[in-house]
Amino acid sequence: MKHRVILFTDIGDTIIDEGTEIRAVPGGIVSRADCLPGARETMLALYEQGYTIAMVADGLVQSFHNTMTQHGLDHIFAAKAISEAVGVEKPDARMFQSAMGQLGLTEADKPRILMIGNNLAKDIVGANAFGIRSALLRLSPRYRHEWQSDAETPDYVLDRPEELPALLRQIERELEA
Ligand SMILES: [Mg+2]
Repeated sequence: MKHRVILFTDIGDTIIDEGTEIRAVPGGIVSRADCLPGARETMLALYEQGYTIAMVADGLVQSFHNTMTQHGLDHIFAAKAISEAVGVEKPDARMFQSAMGQLGLTEADKPRILMIGNNLAKDIVGANAFGIRSALLRLSPRYRHEWQSDAETPDYVLDRPEELPALLRQIERELEA
């Protein structure tokens, strides 16, 4: 079953616990990392329920390949916008545009897209400026959770990944109404 709502997701401290990342050299490729509690199960369930999921993440292509393959998540992404490949980092609109383009989506589809991430300055500012929905996951303690401007204000706030399916269903109902 295909859903109208489309999920864009950050990876670091949204799916992967950045505090567990293992690199051979500082700033290098991540070889392994743990997932945040509930993140893997939630993302797999959403994929199995037919949601279209795109990765919109800052980092190295090989790092995300390693960690997503490690957790059996690499196949769930219908598109991947990775900063190393795109050439810019969030909040640059080209990151979000890349994911939209890979999925064959246009301006008219923007109300269907929800971006979830942990970083106000990257994920929320970027999604808000791009004109898609934004959800802050405030699970990781590494970044601040208090927004300081309209540009940083998320449309939705989640404390745990397990809250995401209900939010997607809520947006789905809004789109149908
Ligand atoms: Mg992040």
